[in-house]
Amino acid sequence: MNRPTKRARTPRGNPPPNTVVADPSQWSEQSQGSVSAGWTHSYTDLIYRCRRCQAETLFSAADQKYTYEVKKAPIDQQRSLCQPCWSESHQIARTLKGLEGQWAQSKTSLRTDKDFLARWLQTIELRERYGLHRHDVARKNMLRNLLSQP
Ligand SMILES: [Zn+2]
Repeated sequence: MNRPTKRARTPRGNPPPNTVVADPSQWSEQSQGSVSAGWTHSYTDLIYRCRRCQAETLFSAADQKYTYEVKKAPIDQQRSLCQPCWSESHQIARTLKGLEGQWAQSKTSLRTDKDFLARWLQTIELRERYGLHRHDVARKNMLRNLLSQP
């Protein structure tokens, strides 16, 4: 009887990256129509650098399988943020939605509310640091304009 052999290790002492079998038939319809569907047979641990904090981050093979086959995320979607930065960016997006909602409801009174306008502008600028959204130049100009009025 053969004893299970120990996994080979890289010189730096890290275990080799994990690989998980892929099942593209579980992907979203759109992903199945992509070129990747033809040649993806497995997922392999992927290291990327967070665009926001530069931390090295692991997108594990198992997490990839879950992301594409259970959550049905687009197969071509790239990860660019680590988990903490991703959560923060979601929090900021929620705050921004709230501010936009307030604005939509009471534009007239908020036009002269400097605290509100400044907070909104700060939140927009904060979100831009995560690099996920196009810069909202028009809205920032509008807010700066309103803030500069006496
Ligand atoms: Zn990060």
